[in-house]
Amino acid sequence: MFVGEAAVRYNVVAPLPAGKEERVAELTFFYGTMNCGKSTLALQIHHNAVSAGKHCLLLTKHDRGGGTISSRIGLAQPAAVVTDDLDIVGFVRDLIAGGRAVDTLICDEVQFYSPAQVEGLAQVVDELDVDVQAFGLLTDFTTQLFPGSQRMLELADRRQELQVEARCWCGERGTLNARTVDGRIQREGEQVVVGDVDDAVVAYEVLCRHHHRQGITSATADLDRGQPAGLRAVADTA
Ligand SMILES: [Zn+2]
Repeated sequence: MFVGEAAVRYNVVAPLPAGKEERVAELTFFYGTMNCGKSTLALQIHHNAVSAGKHCLLLTKHDRGGGTISSRIGLAQPAAVVTDDLDIVGFVRDLIAGGRAVDTLICDEVQFYSPAQVEGLAQVVDELDVDVQAFGLLTDFTTQLFPGSQRMLELADRRQELQVEARCWCGERGTLNARTVDGRIQREGEQVVVGDVDDAVVAYEVLCRHHHRQGITSATADLDRGQPAGLRAVADTA
């Protein structure tokens, strides 16, 4: 069998039975590592949809900015905050019943949603005919799938890996998220930590698998070379 032939076969969707109409709304999951531009894309999709006259609802959870979707390049939009106990289907249904038009939900930080909330997003697509574009990280700092992201991979109509790739400090493709405390990699702890803890600086860094396994962060790599962090780039080009 030719490769092309196989590709064509996998792209063919069986014809609809007579009299059936295709549902338009879809559940799409965009995923990537930290710093891969997820929030920027979420805001771009929001901008395009609003420009096209669509009624969008932005949702986020545990975002750096609270009730906003913010991107590192400075864009921001107010967003409804998804709390742990929010019934997303009821929330959207009430908005529509109250006269608000909702065509699309744009959901950032979806890795923090509970599996039940992700199931709610699927229900919003199927029962309320609302498009859902969800954005999230795949894995946590221990390299395990977030439960919300796992449920999203299981249920989404489309799964799209974001092509903007972060790089590890070594220059390799960064595929895994690491948590650091004062520059040192962490292997254990709560799955969700936003902000500093006990006067220690909690940060996140994207590493290649090799350096994630070895636990070498940009800060400890600098220490190994006997140079303070930040001076390496200058030294390398000198
Ligand atoms: Zn590396």
